[in-house]
Amino acid sequence: YDGIDFQDYPRNDALPLQFSRGCIRNCAFCSERLLYKGFRMREPQAVVDEISYYRSRGINNFIFFDSMINADIKKLEDLCNKVIANFSKVNWEAQIAIRPDMPQRLFDKMKQSGCYNLFVGLESGCDDTLKRMKKGYSTEDALGFFRKLKAAGLYFGISMIVGYPGETGKDFRDSLDFIIRNKEFIPKIEQVNPFTYYEGTQADKKYDYKVNRISLKRFNIFIEEIRRNRIKHTNAFLGNLIEK
Ligand code: SF4
Repeated sequence: YDGIDFQDYPRNDALPLQFSRGCIRNCAFCSERLLYKGFRMREPQAVVDEISYYRSRGINNFIFFDSMINADIKKLEDLCNKVIANFSKVNWEAQIAIRPDMPQRLFDKMKQSGCYNLFVGLESGCDDTLKRMKKGYSTEDALGFFRKLKAAGLYFGISMIVGYPGETGKDFRDSLDFIIRNKEFIPKIEQVNPFTYYEGTQADKKYDYKVNRISLKRFNIFIEEIRRNRIKHTNAFLGNLIEK
C-alpha cells in the first residue's frame, strides 16, 4: 500500500488481511475449492509484521478474508499470542468454522487480541442436513461452539441455507427450531438464503432450487419466524443470493 493515500477512501480505517487461502474442508455445496487450488497458510509472524507496517500508517482495524480463520488452531493461537505481545490488541474480524476441538482458552485469546466480530457458517440446525452438506459437525458441536464464543464475549453472526437437497419438511422445522430454541446463544443471523447450486460443486444439480417453490416458501417461513421471535438479523443479507 505504499504511495496510497488512505484519505482518498471513504472507509479508510480498515484493511483486508489474509492468514490462509483456500479451505481444509470440503462442504458439498461450497465453491471455495473451485476458486482456490489447495490450502496455503502464512506464518503468524508474517501476519504480525504486516499488521505492524499498517499500524505505523495509522491503521488499526483489519478484516481477514480467510475461508476459515481457524484452519490451524495452533497457528491461530500463536497469532493471537503475538498480537497481544506486540500490540496489546488490534481490531479484527473473520470467518470461522465450527470445530469442537477448539479450547476455551483460544476463544478467550481471540477476544483479548481484539476480535470484535465473527461470521459462522452454521447453514443448518438439522443433523441429517448437516451430514448431507458434509459440514463435519453436529448441532451439538455447533451449540458447544456458540457457548464458548459467548463465554469469551465474542460477537458473531451465523449464515443459514434453507431447502438444501433432500431437506424434508421435518428437517426444515428441526433446523428452524434449533435456531429459536438456542437464540440466547446466537447474537445475530447474518445471512439466510434458499439453496443455490454452484456448477462444479458436489451438491446434486437436479436439486437446483433457485426457482423452487418449496424452498422459497420455507425461506419466507424462516424469515417470518426469526422476525416473530425477535432474533437479530441483517436485512440486507436475507435472500441476497436469490436470482431476481
Ligand atoms: S462452507 Fe466454509 S468450511 Fe465449508 S468448504 Fe466452504 S469455506 Fe470451507
